[in-house]
Amino acid sequence: MSVNNYIQTHKERFLNELLDLLRIPSVSADPKFKDDVFKAAEFVKESLLKAGADVAEVCETAGYPIVYGEKIVDPNLPTVLVYGHYDVQPADPYELWDSPPFEPVIKKTPNHPEGAIFARGSADDKGQFYMHVKAFEAMMASGDLPCNVKFMIEGEEEVGSDNLETFVLENKEKLKSDVILISDTHMISMQDPSITVGLRGLTYMEVEVTGANRDLHSGTYGGAVANPINVLCKMIASLRDENEHITIPGFYDKVQELSAEQRERLNEAPFDLEEYKSKLEIDEVHGEKGFTTIERVGIRPTLDVNGIWGGYTGEGAKTVLPSKAYAKISMRLVPDQDWKEIAKLFEDYFKSLAPASVKVKVRSHHGGSPAVVSDTSVGYRAAEAAMEETFGKRPIPTREGGSIPIVALFQKELGSDPILFGFGLDTDALHSPNEHYGVQNYFIGIETIAAFFRHFKKLSEA
Ligand SMILES: [Zn+2]
Repeated sequence: MSVNNYIQTHKERFLNELLDLLRIPSVSADPKFKDDVFKAAEFVKESLLKAGADVAEVCETAGYPIVYGEKIVDPNLPTVLVYGHYDVQPADPYELWDSPPFEPVIKKTPNHPEGAIFARGSADDKGQFYMHVKAFEAMMASGDLPCNVKFMIEGEEEVGSDNLETFVLENKEKLKSDVILISDTHMISMQDPSITVGLRGLTYMEVEVTGANRDLHSGTYGGAVANPINVLCKMIASLRDENEHITIPGFYDKVQELSAEQRERLNEAPFDLEEYKSKLEIDEVHGEKGFTTIERVGIRPTLDVNGIWGGYTGEGAKTVLPSKAYAKISMRLVPDQDWKEIAKLFEDYFKSLAPASVKVKVRSHHGGSPAVVSDTSVGYRAAEAAMEETFGKRPIPTREGGSIPIVALFQKELGSDPILFGFGLDTDALHSPNEHYGVQNYFIGIETIAAFFRHFKKLSEA
């Protein structure tokens, strides 16, 4: 039986297995789900063994485990390393989901007329890494696995991949490969397949502003003692100027400026501003002056408040002058910004903005480096050929606003080319309520991955 026939005849089971995996609430950020995160790791290990791996193990780390698996057909053949993550974002706020986040259901949507799987983690990243497990199974079962394959599926991607670097450094030999496949990004559309070649980095900060040593009566003290929430809002507002340019000194020093020609090519990707606005129900887009929306999310750094709190937020009114105010602030970075350097620049500048009436603490949560990957490597060309085969169209190289910090880590430590082989759509509500992943995307992804193995072997020999 050919690989594609095998996929066709096992569709129902392939789908049901993914649904089982999605039922495990493996939320890495919330300790309440600790057992489930471990359970998901076991599930991944078992599924690799069932698919035909010689070795599959749950490798302990200082945090959640990394599942490693491999099938070595012949040491002389090229080796593909697959990276993915089995942990998911928290599902809150639950009330905004149309169906419970860990009880997957399949429903039609305008972008997925054949149905999409609604569940936390369906697109990010369970549905996407599981395509690799199923493609592997199909190639094994049909006796046609053209390359060696290794899997490294982690459980801490959504909380910063804290233990991945150590694992990579300690297992360089084991992870040796000729190409790394990562399906954790999206394509432009089913009609316009694309491969991500640029990713933004991230620096995530938390700030605490303290006024008086305790909450005060806003009548007795209001107007005479600094209100840390008022102060924090003002400080945040001054992090950007009227052109939406970030004011932190030195922030843009290492930003790579693209040539006019590169910018032109980037803007060739199909993009309908009116549709973009109407989908989000906004009247106008917003961003740095002098750049298009595609550029704002692809090649420019940002600064955003992700959460802000303090004082009284309960029912009714309480006339309090709070002692403390907090905010979580993240910055998306572009090549060649260094996230640790940016964290330091932020800290110094933010502290300098504080009036003497308050005390400020700044803490760096986590971060990751931005990355650009080659669009001429053997791996990229194989991915391009595979997509052309299954979609009938040559994929467009794109730059994405999101961050996958491990891309830079892999480039540096493993020395092979990562290919960002994502099959989701940007409308799949990643990290949001009602996250979903197209059923068709899932199956075309499995077929494309199998095609990649064939092309990669062929091109590696050429
Ligand atoms: Zn992800």
